[in-house]
Amino acid sequence: MASLRLTELILHIGWQVVGKPRKQSGEMASLNYSELPVICSGGTPLGGSIDRFRIVNMEIDMLLSRWFLWITFHRCLWTIALLLIISTGNSMAENATHKFKLVVLAEAGGIHRPFVDAAKVWLDKQAAGNSFSVDYIQDTDKIDDVFLSRYQVFIQLNYPPYGWTPTAMAAFTKYIEEGRGGWIGFHHATLLGEFDGYPMWPWFSRFMGGIRFTDYIPKFATATVVVEDPSHAVMKDVGQTFVVDQEEWYTYDKSPRPNVHVLSRVDEATYSPDTRTKMGDHPVVWTNEHYKARNVYIFMGHHPELFQNPAFTTIFRNSILWAARQ
Ligand SMILES: [Zn+2]
Repeated sequence: MASLRLTELILHIGWQVVGKPRKQSGEMASLNYSELPVICSGGTPLGGSIDRFRIVNMEIDMLLSRWFLWITFHRCLWTIALLLIISTGNSMAENATHKFKLVVLAEAGGIHRPFVDAAKVWLDKQAAGNSFSVDYIQDTDKIDDVFLSRYQVFIQLNYPPYGWTPTAMAAFTKYIEEGRGGWIGFHHATLLGEFDGYPMWPWFSRFMGGIRFTDYIPKFATATVVVEDPSHAVMKDVGQTFVVDQEEWYTYDKSPRPNVHVLSRVDEATYSPDTRTKMGDHPVVWTNEHYKARNVYIFMGHHPELFQNPAFTTIFRNSILWAARQ
């Protein structure tokens, strides 16, 4: 649009510059030779004798005038072309700098504050390197259809699935079910149950594979995560296994596996220190393919040190690009 307005402005200026002399030239070109004696003699009729010398001068003037117009016109054309190239280049550069937009619903304060802060630093760096932009919100007040329509990816950065406004719940449900954008959820995003006086959000429980949160390892455990689908874009360059230090390893009332596509599970036999808080088949990264939106839940997300773990950051980066369909 900007380049169109610019073109209109240039054409307008060009018309003002070229149009006026051209009109003058037209007047000169349409001169009747029989009138020339009157005009050339400054208004005094010469009684039919034509001043050839003055006519030649006038013809030279006309020629020079046409040359001037020709040069001016071409200069204008070249200027327009040059400005169009520059403005097109600028708008392409703008598009290249912001290929897509993320909105991050970040848990404010609490025990996950250091993780959320580290995530923001990491995301801002990724945004610069991968040409996307990130907006952060700390509650669901702004979320509605119009708000979500601005974003290609919604990241639920430890924000729990309760206490949302009814408008936000309806808009988010539509966003996911109609595939209006992608979704990446971390850690607290599966805090499904009755918490802080709120009931469980049944739709969100189904979205997460029909699970309910049951327990966690409060003193943390280091464990090995097994990649189940290395061919999935989210697991690209992650390897077959990786170690995660000091996590809480949430347990649920059942494995989400029957309802989701599991990308990774934690090997509970590797828990260090060992603990009784186990669930057997224990998926930790999965996607629910029953929803149109590209979505991925990543359980890990308690400590900020995760941003020093290349497997975790690779999964996070892959998830952004995959969810944004890049
Ligand atoms: Zn935690």
